[in-house]
Amino acid sequence: MTSLSDLPIRDDLRGKSPYGAPQKVVPVALNVNENTHPIPEDVATDIVERVAHAVLGVNRYPDREFTELRESLARYLGHGLTAENLWAANGSNEVIQQILQAFGGPGRSLLGFAPTYSMYPLLAAGAGTAYLSGRRDAEFELSPETAAAEIRRLDPDIVILCSPNNPTGTPLSLETIEAAYDAARGMVVVDEAYAEFMPEGEPSALTLLPGRPRLLVSRTMSKAFAFAGARVGYLAADPAAVDALRLVRLPYHLSALTQAAALGALAHSEEMLAMVGEIRDQRDRIVTELAGLGYRPHRSGSNFVLFGGVADPQATFEALLEQGVLIRDVGIPNHLRVTAGTEAETTAFLTALASLGRPASGANAAPDAAESATDQPVGSQS
Ligand code: PMP
Repeated sequence: MTSLSDLPIRDDLRGKSPYGAPQKVVPVALNVNENTHPIPEDVATDIVERVAHAVLGVNRYPDREFTELRESLARYLGHGLTAENLWAANGSNEVIQQILQAFGGPGRSLLGFAPTYSMYPLLAAGAGTAYLSGRRDAEFELSPETAAAEIRRLDPDIVILCSPNNPTGTPLSLETIEAAYDAARGMVVVDEAYAEFMPEGEPSALTLLPGRPRLLVSRTMSKAFAFAGARVGYLAADPAAVDALRLVRLPYHLSALTQAAALGALAHSEEMLAMVGEIRDQRDRIVTELAGLGYRPHRSGSNFVLFGGVADPQATFEALLEQGVLIRDVGIPNHLRVTAGTEAETTAFLTALASLGRPASGANAAPDAAESATDQPVGSQS
């Protein structure tokens, strides 16, 4: 049988593994940070009507500039943004891929701060861009000083800051983003895939856009918006940066059906986001109850919690799966990550975990190895 290594694949892709979060059918799936609440039925009905209307026109290519969608996204984001500042693609993964195609490439580099989203190195590899791993401070935090020092040390062409960070949940301060921008000579991307789960009133990197043409803020409809299956990610930036992405996107990359569905969801954004408060409550409950069980949960501004104090993550992962609860081993020693689900799903997770007994190390044990060595390789988080 032919295997991948028998084919004349690019040398720089040899030996790499594809993205592969398990897609198992289980009663309680809390492994890929989705919004586990189904979308409201009246919104679904409106989306179906809009998609049905769009189908009647699919003999023609869609609006290549998806102008109506960019206008709608600008309205949703506010901050004085207009359609010229907006861009969208099939998920924010594709947005980041386009950024790498336009600003990275052979001879150039992307810097991320480990542990962070596992797709960054893979997207970099696909675009022939070298991936550099910067260090964080203790507890996975990233201070303005550390961010700036790492950028000066590694001198990347593109910096990507994930805030709140996947898989740790750590939010970044605006001061850190400003310091990173000032230290970087190239583009600075802030991946705000989980921004809506931040505490209310917490400022977004969008507030930093005016006067910073090298800053790009990417967002997604996959998380808070409960729209992961529709594949819509987007970005806000200076119109010149948006123009750069036009050079690398495939013509008509956003199908007429995707555009219609996204417009439908955005027309009901309040209803689509109605469960965000409930998800934040479940996240905070997970943090409190995990600490009570003797684990070491990390602070999270996202819809998931990373927790330490797990003696054998693989064994705990398997034991939970046996009880129908799927969470994530992100490859950080002594840690696991869980998505905040509905109240019932969260209860199922906490009950299943409690049934395994208290962790051996206990809440007051010395910090896990992973927290003192924050430059460990990334796991397979999504
Ligand atoms: N950024 C981060 C930090 C993520 O966790 C994810 C998805 N897990 C994405 C981007 C990509 O999401 P999507 O392509 O669905 O927008």
